Amino acid sequence: MSALEIDKIRLIYLFVLVGAPVLYIMSALHYINNDVPMALFEALLATGGVLIGIVLRLYNNIKLAENLILFGLILLIIAIIVNGGYERTGIYWIYTFPILSLFLKGNKEGVIWNIVLMFVISLLVYLNMRKVVPIAYSYVEIRQALTAYMVIFLLAYIFETALLKSYQKLKKVAITDQLTGLYNRHYIFSKLEEEIKRARRFDRSLCVILIDIDNFKQINDKYGHNVGDKVLQIVANLIRKNVRRIDTVGRLGGEEIIIICPDTNEKGGRILGEKIRLLIEKIKGENIPPVTVSIGVATFSPLDSSYELIKKADIALYRAKRSGKNKVVVYNDETKLIHLNEIKKPAAVGRH
Ligand code: GH3
Ligand code: MG
Ligand code: MG
Repeated sequence: MSALEIDKIRLIYLFVLVGAPVLYIMSALHYINNDVPMALFEALLATGGVLIGIVLRLYNNIKLAENLILFGLILLIIAIIVNGGYERTGIYWIYTFPILSLFLKGNKEGVIWNIVLMFVISLLVYLNMRKVVPIAYSYVEIRQALTAYMVIFLLAYIFETALLKSYQKLKKVAITDQLTGLYNRHYIFSKLEEEIKRARRFDRSLCVILIDIDNFKQINDKYGHNVGDKVLQIVANLIRKNVRRIDTVGRLGGEEIIIICPDTNEKGGRILGEKIRLLIEKIKGENIPPVTVSIGVATFSPLDSSYELIKKADIALYRAKRSGKNKVVVYNDETKLIHLNEIKKPAAVGRH
């Protein structure tokens, strides 16, 4: 569950916790003043609010709770415009609507909810003019209330836009590796869990490719840490640009990069691994030393955990390193051994 969803749930509980008692009190006051229909309506709405809170707690269906709260609020506003509310303070409820609707439904759907409310209020005023429904408020009062409502709506809209932007920025920072712009280790593991569940449920193939820069320590030592960083960034960019949109590329740590490839079998993984190996080998640039990578490929089998799947790719990668580097090695599930049809590398590329 995202932080935004948690905030939404909190707001719904808060609204129910404050709104329901207020409504029960208003209901009691109306009852004392012999306005039984309004008293009953408010008691019903308050009970509805409490039920929404309980259902949300039990089933975690945020969307349903959001819609029911806003729908209940519109019903309350209709009743209050017609009836007046206790001491004619009921109209204040409309000021809660833009804030609540924009926060719960976001800017787009929130605006639609507000248009619906405006339509409902206009309809009531029209029906009042046609003498179909008498309303408790004068046109001047309605106009004043709507002016204040518009101000609150605009402020809530601006605030919500800013909030959403900073939330998205924060979310991006939390899952991104700063140096390479790839996904970070934390995100990669949660994404891999997700892809494993999908592959298991729909019986799809899934492939993991581990890429480790060869002799990176030497690049750092010989050319400096800045050049090392630059090489890492170039390699990361090249990989990101050469995978499918559904693939996920992340930095596991140091100079080790992972690609999660959904719907990709062993052959596909091997081809992609080899394509990347060749592309990196061809990197040329001013002040950029030659660079090669070793690659381990593993495919998912239904009993694998995310840890085991990465472990298999790591075993293959280790084999690629041990057998000369700058090559792709595939882990074979059936024999529990490494494929020795490692993709041939050209003779002695890279520095050792
Ligand atoms: P191998 O071919 O066996 O992978 O050798 P290697 O030198 O690449 O491997 P090793 O694990 O011994 O060294 C990895 C080096 O990567 C060590 C560390 O200084 C460097 N490194 C890790 N993270 C960064 C980074 O963010 N920037 C730079 N410039 N270097 C890094
Ligand atoms: Mg390395
Ligand atoms: Mg390494």
